[in-house]
Amino acid sequence: MKSRKLLMIPGPIEFEPSVLRAMGEATTSHVAPNFIETFGNCLDLIQNVWQSPNGQPFLIAGSGTLAMDMAISNLIEKGENALVISTGYFGERFKDILTTYGANVTVLTAAIGDVVSLNDIETELKNKDYKLVTMTHVDTSTGVLVDPKPVAALAKKYNALSILDGVCSVAGEEIQQDNWGIDIVFTGSQKAIGVPPGLALLVASPKAMETWKNRKTPVQSYYSDWKNWLPIMKAYQNRKPSYFGTPAVNLIRALEVSLELINKQGITNRTNVHKKYAKAFQKAIVAIGLELVPNSTEITANTLSAIYYPREIDGNEFRKQVGELGVIIAGGLHAEIKATYFRVGHMGSINAADITTTLSAIEYGLSKVGYTFKLGSSLATFQKELLA
Ligand SMILES: *Cc1c(COP(=O)(O)O)cnc(C)c1O
Repeated sequence: MKSRKLLMIPGPIEFEPSVLRAMGEATTSHVAPNFIETFGNCLDLIQNVWQSPNGQPFLIAGSGTLAMDMAISNLIEKGENALVISTGYFGERFKDILTTYGANVTVLTAAIGDVVSLNDIETELKNKDYKLVTMTHVDTSTGVLVDPKPVAALAKKYNALSILDGVCSVAGEEIQQDNWGIDIVFTGSQKAIGVPPGLALLVASPKAMETWKNRKTPVQSYYSDWKNWLPIMKAYQNRKPSYFGTPAVNLIRALEVSLELINKQGITNRTNVHKKYAKAFQKAIVAIGLELVPNSTEITANTLSAIYYPREIDGNEFRKQVGELGVIIAGGLHAEIKATYFRVGHMGSINAADITTTLSAIEYGLSKVGYTFKLGSSLATFQKELLA
């Protein structure tokens, strides 16, 4: 395994061997009895992970962006008002998609490393009649974590739908879709849900489905239209064959294996494990004098960390050196600060060995590019945290 590298980016991530093995099973017909059971089981398990027994699950071939497109294209009509709460790059993507479908978009943009205050959100909701409010649970470009619960409550108070981009959070951060009253929660397979790229997963509340049914104009996307997919999802969940577009048979079988693993671990357990490793990793990073992009620990994600380079170093060379030790980390994504920070993903079936390896590679890379600190001190901090 000399050439094996550890993939510590915010998706795709390291996948469980059993999930990867499932990808290689013989491809069956999409209407074979065993596949119907697999697809139906995935939809049931999705409702579990989202904590949304009342929600309508959708499972479609496509990346996370397809899930965004599906949420927006089915719920917005031309000329309606949409409020985007942006904590980085993926808030901007919501704006682009909404604009594509003819919405009047207002964006409330947080300062880099911060969240938009509930006060500002409420003021805006009072000001105008909004059809929907979007938020990004963890913006992968800043590592900022938004608390979706009070935002969803505000949306409900002002009669707007709430849409949560959970691509970097579902199965890694706590989400209770039904209890928190969030109308749409979606993700992509390659992030914390732990399956190679290629699946869009989305759960819609009964209110979201009602809103879609009562549209005055047709949905302006053919592939995303729930009219095409709802009968398919209902059929498979009732363990009946159906066809609109060929499902990604092998990916869905791999998803079943991953969702079973998540279910066995328990979703609360899993999010607690994410929190434990994230907090310890972040303390270790701070211990060697580095600074996180998020302003405070309360709004720092548990699925990835966005970290500023020490001012004097060459970031590209640093990441290359980390790679020399066999660990792949990501560069910046947020346009305004892109060259000044790097990102480390720590979601999915993350364990202490992955983190210690990553910290040691980061220390090595920093040393190679001339940053001075006490060698081993991030590892010592991480271990102290785990022992505490
Ligand atoms: C990765 C990501 C997306 C986009 O998903 P793709 O699978 O790359 O299309 C959207 N939102 C967030 C928060 C993400 O992390």
